[in-house]
Amino acid sequence: MNLSRPSRVADAVSAAGAGGDVAYLAGGHTLIPAMKARLRDPEGLVDLSGLDELKGMSVEDAEGGRRLWIGAMTRHRDVAEGADAIPALQHMATLIGDPQVRNRGTLGGSLANNDPASDYPAAVLALQAEIETDRATHRAEDFFQGMFFTALEEGELIKRVGFRIPARAAYAKFRHPASRYALSGVFVAEIGPGIWRVAVTGSGQEGVFRWPQAEEALANGADISTVAAPDASLMSSDIHASPEYRAHLCTVMLAKAVGEIK
Ligand SMILES: Cc1cc2nc3c(=O)[nH]c(=O)nc-3n(C[C@H](O)[C@H](O)[C@H](O)COP(=O)(O)OP(=O)(O)OC[C@H]3O[C@@H](n4cnc5c(N)ncnc54)[C@H](O)[C@@H]3O)c2cc1C
Repeated sequence: MNLSRPSRVADAVSAAGAGGDVAYLAGGHTLIPAMKARLRDPEGLVDLSGLDELKGMSVEDAEGGRRLWIGAMTRHRDVAEGADAIPALQHMATLIGDPQVRNRGTLGGSLANNDPASDYPAAVLALQAEIETDRATHRAEDFFQGMFFTALEEGELIKRVGFRIPARAAYAKFRHPASRYALSGVFVAEIGPGIWRVAVTGSGQEGVFRWPQAEEALANGADISTVAAPDASLMSSDIHASPEYRAHLCTVMLAKAVGEIK
């Protein structure tokens, strides 16, 4: 096993592209268990922990409004403590896993993995985020392409993610009691005057999705309890929850999030 620990993005990308199956190592919270279970068997690892330019946060003015940019190697704990430009995002980060997970897990690792029950995809989609890599800037809409599948190409490195700073937002999540992953997580955000976006994680067969009926209800000031549950035939099913249960949970989490908007 070849392990490198570059201190520049360009060196990381060229190490990953040097040939063979080479994986980036962020916090290792998904990659290491997958390797232990022999689900992944890379020939080489590029440890990203020495890339200081992938850490930290900044607010930048941009066309369409200000964005909070967060480096891919920023850990969930740092977002929970420091992303005060978007309190709903901060709150979301406090709900990820447990302290050990938040101390190791990273924004970039979470998005590259695109676990259908992870929290960040809901924030990324609701806040119309941009995912900046070493070779492209992906729109949130195009980035998530189904369970554990993204627009990232072989060796493409996420550098940072720019979240639109909303006027108001909230996130509510019903978590699995053991893993803390979402059975349903609903992120609501007013990203412009009267323009609402609602994104749901943990429930959809294809991973994160937008919920147009909920967006419309919020834009029209309608009673949120009148929004019908998402189509159960599009919800995922496993030993933890049936599709109908997940669809119902979405309505409960939507109401909870709307009640907590600030
Ligand atoms: C017990 C447990 C509970 C958890 N609970 C939750 C939860 O409640 N909510 C939630 O959202 N998540 C949860 N997670 C996931 C966790 O938060 C991590 O974000 C996730 O496991 C990814 O881990 P990591 O950041 O260490 O990345 P790694 O495991 O190091 O990498 C994951 C994948 O992303 C790739 N990668 C990493 N960084 C980059 C990059 N910058 N560019 C391109 N590719 C990259 C790697 O090559 C690898 O394929 C949980 C994890 C565990 C173990």
